[in-house]
Amino acid sequence: MAGDDAVPGGPIEHPAYGVVRPVTDTASVLLADNPGKMTLDGTNSWLLGAPGSRERIVVDPGPRTRAHIDRIVDAADVPLVLITHRHHDHTGGIPRIARLTGAPVRALNPKYCRGGEPLRDGEVIEAAGVRLTVVTTPGHTADSVSLVLDDAVVTGDTILGRGTTVIDSRDGTLGDYLASLDRLSDVGEGKRLLPGHGPDGADTAEAARAYRVHRQQRLDQVRGALETLGADASPLAVVKLVYADIDKRLWPAARQSVKAQLDYLRS
Ligand SMILES: [Zn+2]
Repeated sequence: MAGDDAVPGGPIEHPAYGVVRPVTDTASVLLADNPGKMTLDGTNSWLLGAPGSRERIVVDPGPRTRAHIDRIVDAADVPLVLITHRHHDHTGGIPRIARLTGAPVRALNPKYCRGGEPLRDGEVIEAAGVRLTVVTTPGHTADSVSLVLDDAVVTGDTILGRGTTVIDSRDGTLGDYLASLDRLSDVGEGKRLLPGHGPDGADTAEAARAYRVHRQQRLDQVRGALETLGADASPLAVVKLVYADIDKRLWPAARQSVKAQLDYLRS
């Protein structure tokens, strides 16, 4: 993997497509070329491994894009693939990376495992010269996990590099999500944020607390909206009032988020 000295003009910055971008001594990222309103600049595939070796654990092979998976496989020897959660922009590449590397694929949800056991909360994994702890962080989805390294945390979509996370109405809940943010603020102190989308951040705990504050503000706004609209207002009516400031194309996502907040407030 190229060090900073190999790059004319200094370190590579996010977003960098098509190149492996070093972030910490043991973590680098390959950004998939799948930008979109729900993926920001695209999905981050994280490569974790000791310096001086080609071995890398792959966290989230990313979307089902041939070129992206081929780049990962060209850049590293892969002994293990880990999955942060079920969304297709993180898991679509599983069949190809499993076929090309023969590495076991492990996720919390057995449906996404290939030749490996489901992940367990608190489990310590050692591979490619690094050690990490699996921490379940449900909320964005029920099967979301974060991976805690010595100096960084891979957060999947639980915390993003910018903006906020959507609670997936299929199986995510705001109650779980708030508890997961608290958990990340406990385990992430002083550790770099390695998110599923967007740029990496200086401190995972700080990011978790900022997300907590933002959620609390939105909850207060939704409570306020219910006072105006009546206690049984629809999610869309609340969106139109509370999210008036955001792009209308984001309303479906906001509606999901508001639905999660209403479920939380009404439960
Ligand atoms: Zn996701």
